Amino acid sequence: RANQPQDPGSCGSGGEWDDDFGYGLFPERSHGGGKQHQSMLYKAVFTRNHRCQLMLQIALESSPYTKLLLDAMKNTGCTVFKNRHFSCKECDGCVSGGFDSSTSQIVLCQNNIHHQSHMNRVVAHEFLHAFDYCRAHVDWFNNIRHLACLEIQAVNLSGDCSLLNEITRFKFGLKQHQQTCVKDRAVRSILAVRNISKEMAEKAVDEVFESCFNDHEPFDRVPHSRADAKYAHRDFQNHDRYYAKF
Ligand SMILES: [Zn+2]
Repeated sequence: RANQPQDPGSCGSGGEWDDDFGYGLFPERSHGGGKQHQSMLYKAVFTRNHRCQLMLQIALESSPYTKLLLDAMKNTGCTVFKNRHFSCKECDGCVSGGFDSSTSQIVLCQNNIHHQSHMNRVVAHEFLHAFDYCRAHVDWFNNIRHLACLEIQAVNLSGDCSLLNEITRFKFGLKQHQQTCVKDRAVRSILAVRNISKEMAEKAVDEVFESCFNDHEPFDRVPHSRADAKYAHRDFQNHDRYYAKF
């Protein structure tokens, strides 16, 4: 499992904890002894799981990134089923999600995803890993440069670096923010699964950056916003319809 891509979230940067799901963090809150504490923990996990499933459902039905990727997977012969290919789980640390190629499952970290917009990005990001795996039928994750390439593509095309995200991270006005943000986050994703130095991860990202940054499959452009993704999805459907005639 350690060599599968897992993607770090942002829970270390603060302000992401939901107070009502904090029982595990603040055990002194439960005064009723072990049994009550256990049932409260169980209830919190159950609630998180339920909420994760609901947010996943919304992402699959309404996010243009996800809708395009669902169509693209289907065209490539890898039809995706919500119940078989997604799993909401409790994860360690700040990981938000991962793709497990041995089971073809996208794991969503229910304890680290608190907002619908975050869920949309994680689903799109892991979906791009699933798409690459479906397309190539090869497990690239053991090769550091291939892993770097997968992360560059997933970060670039999932909305991880959309302008709105960057504004909230106080990087507004940064020139070429897309390139910088993609490099930055790809390095973080590699470091989350590989026990290598930051310099080695940066070197791998730099070596493959040009070609991987410019590969937008299955999008026809870099979707910088939800609107971009919507147009990309519309064009993808039209393109599909055109070819279906012949
Ligand atoms: Zn990734």
